[in-house]
Amino acid sequence: VPGRFAGRVVVVTGAGSGIGRAVASRIVQEGGRVVGADLSEERLRTVAEELGDAFTYVAGSVTEQEVVDRVIEAAGPDLWGLVNNAGIMDDFLSAGEVDDATWERVFAVNVTSMMRLIRAALPLMLAAGAGSIVNTASEAGLRGSAAGVAYTASKHAVVGLTKSTAVFYRSKGIRCNAVAPGAVATNIQTRMDTASFTEVVAPLLGAFALATATAEQLAASITWLLSDDSANVNGAILASDGGWSAI
Ligand code: NAD
Repeated sequence: VPGRFAGRVVVVTGAGSGIGRAVASRIVQEGGRVVGADLSEERLRTVAEELGDAFTYVAGSVTEQEVVDRVIEAAGPDLWGLVNNAGIMDDFLSAGEVDDATWERVFAVNVTSMMRLIRAALPLMLAAGAGSIVNTASEAGLRGSAAGVAYTASKHAVVGLTKSTAVFYRSKGIRCNAVAPGAVATNIQTRMDTASFTEVVAPLLGAFALATATAEQLAASITWLLSDDSANVNGAILASDGGWSAI
């Protein structure tokens, strides 16, 4: 549908690769302006070359409050949308294996950065009386067998962040939803050689878990949640997983 984002400014994190890049591309194709954030300046530059003037960016880690502030400033007072999508995996480490550094890094990127971006975006959305937020959760936000303990707990936290935000701002013209992707072909990295993975997780992974979707398929789900097409949907966790969550 051309024009769903005409005149709208949307922040997309993790815009340099995978799902975030596909979301940025779809928003620009449909008339929007995107401020992309990513750790990798090189990736962002490549996306900017492809998408042109409608895509500007801030390079840095969304775990830094200063980067969050720069992203919101770059969006300016017309900020309407936020796609909290940057995330990292946890090498499928179980509760007995996880080290503090992995736990803290995964929570900083996957949860705290999302809260900080929402907190920073809200004053602008409240002033405008309109806004739409989509957080990227995961199949691991729905079940215990899709990642290690840190990632699984972090994505369950994303579900709570989404529902809480939906409730507190529902009467202010602001919606907050999440997408729960199954396996998607992107650049996300994880180890799959731990004993926990081979002995516990691998036998539970059925055909759905192994069937990989494209980033463009996820961008279709995310931009639907972001757009006015989902006007009556708020606080929803949309599984976009080919049916994995149904079993
Ligand atoms: P990806 O690695 O291809 O893209 C993620 C991008 O985020 C990268 O460009 C990376 O540089 C950036 N990023 C990472 N940490 C960052 C930080 N601290 N600050 C700024 N940018 C940062 O991965 P993807 O698969 O497209 O992941 C996007 C989201 O989808 C993540 O939240 C991930 O947890 C979720 N997800 C992915 C899958 C999958 O199978 N790929 C499944 C479920 C959920």
